[in-house]
Amino acid sequence: MKRLLFLLVFIPLISLGQDFKTTNVGSSKKLEGKIYVLTIFISESHWDYNNKLKIYNEIYEAENWLVNQAKIYNKKLEFIGGQFGLNNTVILNQIPVGTASGNEPVNLVDKVLRKVCYSSVSKFSNWIIENTDADNYLVLIIANKKGNGYAMPYPKGADKKYFVEGTILYKRDLQNSRLVSSEIAHEFLHLFGAWDLYETYQQPKSREDKAKELFPNDIMHRVSYDINELKIDKLTAWLVGLSNFKEDWYNWFKPID
Ligand SMILES: [Zn+2]
Repeated sequence: MKRLLFLLVFIPLISLGQDFKTTNVGSSKKLEGKIYVLTIFISESHWDYNNKLKIYNEIYEAENWLVNQAKIYNKKLEFIGGQFGLNNTVILNQIPVGTASGNEPVNLVDKVLRKVCYSSVSKFSNWIIENTDADNYLVLIIANKKGNGYAMPYPKGADKKYFVEGTILYKRDLQNSRLVSSEIAHEFLHLFGAWDLYETYQQPKSREDKAKELFPNDIMHRVSYDINELKIDKLTAWLVGLSNFKEDWYNWFKPID
């Protein structure tokens, strides 16, 4: 059965200014090449291993889907990565709850990296540069809690402590739906510059309606339990650097600061 899930919201750190795209910004610059994903499972108490493993399968599905979507645009994509907390959950007290308000804390990547073994985000960046050949990297935080996930992209000019881009996703959303691969891929795409194409505090209903006409199956317009009914349509492809083809009207969908 097809069912719409609660969509996730893009949380900017500061105004995007004159730059309409966040491609080439932060640690997730462009959706191409090798992408290192550091997954960190956080919880306020014990978290069952098998439950985390199921979520890991959703992450793999999201990554495979992105690889296949990139192929359609003749771009080669490869995911590599590591994790903390799969065997021994990373315990973090008072995990914030995303509510799609736009007022969620955006310092979580820094906070969670410190909780594992990096004393700063630049220590983590250095580790990536010295130990991997990744072109892009991001932190995927999975929380053992209910909430609506959000992305933390780095806008040009923000404090360097936000340079490492990441997203937090919750085991279940506030409507109690379990976390699925299309939500993970949706949030990853925000880090590479994609815009929401549904109604949010930054997008009026008129844009959702227009997107429904133009990009009914774009993953930034809607998510689904079945990721294979979704695609990266041409506007999102341009935003994340999969395509150089740009129509003049694309900027009409730019989120309101
Ligand atoms: Zn979103």
